[in-house]
Amino acid sequence: MGRIRFCDSCGARLPRSASARRRYCDDVCRAQAYRERKRADRAWGLGLMLGEAEWVGDEGMIRLLTCPECGHILFAGATRRSDLIYCSGRCRSRVWRRRAARRARERA
Ligand SMILES: [Zn+2]
Ligand SMILES: [Zn+2]
Repeated sequence: MGRIRFCDSCGARLPRSASARRRYCDDVCRAQAYRERKRADRAWGLGLMLGEAEWVGDEGMIRLLTCPECGHILFAGATRRSDLIYCSGRCRSRVWRRRAARRARERA
């Protein structure tokens, strides 16, 4: 009896008095664990979609699911329309910089 258990989310030790079914220290940890699981599900779903698109050669879908700059799979954490195209701000600004450099060259 009284086996020491730890929170599934943050790893903190659960009080000895915690019921056997309890897995998290509190609701915050439970919500955090839920969010992480959701994210993992989405990543898995996206990977599946991309695999399917590649299998049937659906270029439009592949473009939608991957970053045109680095080819990484895109996670829809985007808040703005322009965020949807690239996987990260880093890729987006890299493209912008390249575009600006090209424009500068064309003007010269
Ligand atoms: Zn916790
Ligand atoms: Zn990228």
